[in-house]
Parts: sequence; C-alpha cells; structure tokens
Amino acid sequence: MNRIELYQGDITEMHVDAIVNAANKSLLGGGGVDGAIHRVAGPKLLEECKKLKGCETGQAKLTLGYRLPARFVIHTVGPVWHGGEIDEKEQLASAYHSSLKIAKEHHLKTLAFPNISTGVYAFPKQLAAQIAIDTVRDFLKDDDSFEEITFCVYDDENYEIYEKLLSS
Ligand code: ADP
Repeated sequence: MNRIELYQGDITEMHVDAIVNAANKSLLGGGGVDGAIHRVAGPKLLEECKKLKGCETGQAKLTLGYRLPARFVIHTVGPVWHGGEIDEKEQLASAYHSSLKIAKEHHLKTLAFPNISTGVYAFPKQLAAQIAIDTVRDFLKDDDSFEEITFCVYDDENYEIYEKLLSS
C-alpha cells in the first residue's frame, strides 16, 4: 500500500495529526512556512516554542497546533545550503528522520512535510526532494503505524519535481 501522498497548497490548512515546520534554530519564528504557521496557530505557539530553548540543525521538537487544524506541529531545522560539502545532505535527511521519529513516538498517524530548506535556506530543490523521498520511503519500510505521509509542495517547480520522483 502506498502511504505517500503529494499535495500542492498551504500546509497551514491541512487536517493531519501534525504538520512539520521548517523552522530556524531559535524556534522563535521566521518568514516563509514558519511565519505562515505562527500566523495561523496564534501567539500561544510562540509561547510554547520559547520554552523549548531552540533546536539543533537536523533535530525536531513537538508542540501543540493551537488554532491550526493540525493537532501538533513538529518543528525541525533544516540546513542552510553552503555548496554541499559540509554535511548539508546528511543534515536534511536527519531533519526528515527526526520528524518521523518524534511523530511515531507520539503515535501520530498522518503527517505533512513542507519542502524543508528549499526556500530561504537555498538547498537545491531536486536534490532536496530526492533526500526527502528516500528518507520517508526508507522509514516506512520498517513502520506499520503511519497511515499517510504527505509532501506539501507550495511552488510549481517543486510540484513537478515531486510528481516525477514519486511516480518512479
Ligand atoms: P527554509 O528556511 O527551510 O528554506 P522556507 O519557509 O523559506 O524554509 O521554505 C521552505 C519551503 O516552504 C519552500 O519550498 C516554500 O515555498 C514553502 N512554503 C512557504 N510557505 C508555505 C506554506 N504556507 N505552506 C507550505 N509550504 C510553504
């Protein structure tokens, strides 16, 4: 059974157990998807994030979703792209893996990922998509608890990249 879905749109509107946030290390809010998530979730999300004391690149932390339709937000920090020679690929894989792991520990069944690091952090989109899909497929091989993992793409370029990769 294929448990991986592709969806194009705004992740803050998704009715899933958790949406993943492409956050920065402070966890105190930013632009892009992070800004959108905080705007919809409301000020209580920032209050909870302040208590978490930040998050290392490649790690993930969970909060409630507050006013979001999603019950939880998993905040993960992807790497800033510096050319690929300083473990950016491993760190991106780790951001996906850590998010899946914490979701599973909380018995969550449905999860949606944005295209971590492909905005302001400038990770090449094709390579980021390959890493994202490989990491999720690999995780699902040894998992029978997730029902659906959705890649929520925002821009047309990522949509086309994911559509091709997911059909192969
Ligand atoms: P990063 O700093 O990790 O690069 P960004 O938020 O700048 O994070 O971008 C990550 C991805 O999230 C980009 O592909 C961007 O187009 C996408 N994005 C921005 N807003 C939203 C949203 N509301 N829903 C889903 N994806 C979004």
